[in-house]
Amino acid sequence: MARKMLVDGDLNQTNKEGAEYDFDLFVIGAGSGGVRAARFSANYGAKVGICELPFHPISSEVIGGVGGTCVIRGCVPKKILVYGATFGGEIEDARNYGWEVNEKLDFNWKKLLQKKTDEINRLNGIYKRLLSNASVKLLEGEGKIVGPNKVEVTQPDGTKLSYSAKHILIATGSRANRPPIPGQELAITSDEALSLDDLPKRAVVFGGGYIAVEFASIWRGLGATVDLFYRKELPLRGFDDEMRAVVARNLEGRGIKLHPQTNLMELVKTDNGIKVITDHGGELIADVVLFATGRLPNTKRLNLEAVGVEIDKTGAVKVDEYSRTNIPSIWAVGDVTNRMNLTPVALMEGTCFATTVFGGESSKPDYRNIPCAVFSIPPLSIVGLSEEEAIQQVNGDVLVFTSTFNPMKNTVSGRQEKTIMKLVVDAETDKVLGASMCGPDAPEIMQGIAVALKCGATKAQFDSTVGIHPSAAEEFVTMRSVSRRVTARGKAKTNL
Ligand code: FAD
Repeated sequence: MARKMLVDGDLNQTNKEGAEYDFDLFVIGAGSGGVRAARFSANYGAKVGICELPFHPISSEVIGGVGGTCVIRGCVPKKILVYGATFGGEIEDARNYGWEVNEKLDFNWKKLLQKKTDEINRLNGIYKRLLSNASVKLLEGEGKIVGPNKVEVTQPDGTKLSYSAKHILIATGSRANRPPIPGQELAITSDEALSLDDLPKRAVVFGGGYIAVEFASIWRGLGATVDLFYRKELPLRGFDDEMRAVVARNLEGRGIKLHPQTNLMELVKTDNGIKVITDHGGELIADVVLFATGRLPNTKRLNLEAVGVEIDKTGAVKVDEYSRTNIPSIWAVGDVTNRMNLTPVALMEGTCFATTVFGGESSKPDYRNIPCAVFSIPPLSIVGLSEEEAIQQVNGDVLVFTSTFNPMKNTVSGRQEKTIMKLVVDAETDKVLGASMCGPDAPEIMQGIAVALKCGATKAQFDSTVGIHPSAAEEFVTMRSVSRRVTARGKAKTNL
């Protein structure tokens, strides 16, 4: 309640007495964060308008679509392709389970792509209905801020509409960025990778983040040769180092050729495909080159400088812990703020915004123990601190428990791929600080572990939990012996 009074108080100071607005809230961008904030604010009784660019799977400064990145060109279509690609390995594994797979198997890329497109069209419709059911007014067009309480929407036919709003929420997300190397126009980004007319036979992926790793897995699973280039020694910077090494090993095990510490220098069009030249002097020919080298916040065309909204050097909107910018009536949530760029985080920020501004209760997003997954094949999933983070952040010692095992399914299928699990524990309090797993179903398992960490579970409580047998998940409650004890602040490892 205190926060609500603060919000209203600030506004009264910055606006003329009795000023009337077209909307209580105007949202720019109808992706995960924007739609959530708009709906929840409307449910609190606010009069809400939202604008979104016209729909197309491949985004640009003037193309988007209700549902945003997650639905149209991110989490959802990607996961559909991951499911499609996983069947390749499953069919191999099925042989030792007695399935005779003698006939030639055909894979129809166009069919999978059509199914994916049908699904994103369906979800686009659902998101529009969610908005109209909440009485949010949806406008098609590009939004721009023209004053602390004024937005302008340019419709697809060029008509400009102007609206006033008590609060403006920037929820314009981010877009893939291309490294400025010669021939970069020959490469594609994840947008196009999710809509290719033909499945590539030879794919090059440049980048070490989760999107790069996932597309490498998708294309390899569907039968392409895949070369993955990245600048660091291991992919997935920021994740637990031991897990990064496991993912790298698994990618190689599945037939992806890894090129660590390698940059792409130039792309050249040839009759045979795209020639890829590396900084090690290497060359290879590919049908498709994917740049998955990072994303930048969508702020360039919002007119923020003119209105005085502060942005950082990457172009991300600077906000306080309530998602408020330096201009009291303007707020921002989701990827455009470049805090933690995940759909559930954008949803959380949108929910907290609505609760704070229209729900009469102060509500800050909580960034602790946010689980996430890399949908490589097999996937990696984590929650809480990595071993390296725990060593930096904990005052006392850190206990590390690991379990590496052959999943039961592989004992019959013969697949040579270990599952690995890890728990990082504060030695003094016994609190579990972090968990990670690389292996089949890791994201499904980790969601439950995240609840335990959110509740502050101790290792003793993990140990006293009865397992589900036979499952891989039960390993999380049967890791009895400590693998290593690490003294805090990065000091040398001690004997147990
Ligand atoms: P968005 O969903 O991007 O929405 C922003 C919207 O604003 C867009 O629809 C855009 O068209 C619109 N817009 C931009 N400028 C304007 C303007 N001037 N006027 C009107 N509208 C405008 N996250 C996960 O949690 N799990 C995953 O597995 C996952 N996989 C991903 C895979 C890929 C390939 C990518 C690219 C992303 C993935 N993400 C994943 C990240 C996730 O998609 C984003 O974090 C999430 O969509 C951010 O939501 P948002 O609301 O901030 O932005």
